[in-house]
Formats: sequence, structure tokens, C-alpha cells
Amino acid sequence: MHEMSIMANILEIVTSTAQKAQGAKVTRIDLAIGERAGVVADALAFAFEAMSPKSMAAGAELVITTIALCYRCPSCARESEENSSPCPTCDLYPEVVRGQELQITSIEIE
Ligand SMILES: [Zn+2]
Repeated sequence: MHEMSIMANILEIVTSTAQKAQGAKVTRIDLAIGERAGVVADALAFAFEAMSPKSMAAGAELVITTIALCYRCPSCARESEENSSPCPTCDLYPEVVRGQELQITSIEIE
């Protein structure tokens, strides 16, 4: 399950951030996951349950926000939720600007 290695990576980042801030433990982690990030939120939450007890994030709350797919015309910046049709103004096909990311948006440390 590739969510396991993603979560291992997230916990590493969270731990080094907490250490730099000289915190004793992590109390909350906020993640933003794009609809098309290729990551299953439930699997990520499961990986967190399995792996966090041995980390500084033991007992922390994991909050996952899903980011909807968003396309934007490369010329006029018109945004839409689908890319099946070209921009009505420029006749260019839009490109993905949101919805593929996987980010840690905030970490709370005590
Ligand atoms: Zn356009």
C-alpha cells in the first residue's frame, strides 16, 4: 500500500518540524489531498493510525481536506472543473492547476 510510504514521509517531515520548534509532541496535522493525487484518504488515515503511535505524532488529530480538481486556461486564466472542452474565448485546452497535490497544510505542536 503506497499510502504507508507516503505517511512515513509525512511523519518524518512532521517530526523534524516539531524538533526544530523544540516541541514535545504533535497535536494536530492538517493535510490537503487533491482529488487526483492518487492517494486514498481512508488508506492514509489507516496508515496514520498504524504508524503514528511510535512517533512524536502519537495521539495527534489527523485532518484531511480534499481539494477538488480545477483546470485553468493557459491564456486567459478562466477556471473550470472539466477539461473536455477548450476555452470558449481562446480555443485552448485548460491545464490542471489544483487537485493533484498532497500537502501538509499545518502542524500543531505542543
Ligand atoms: Zn482562455
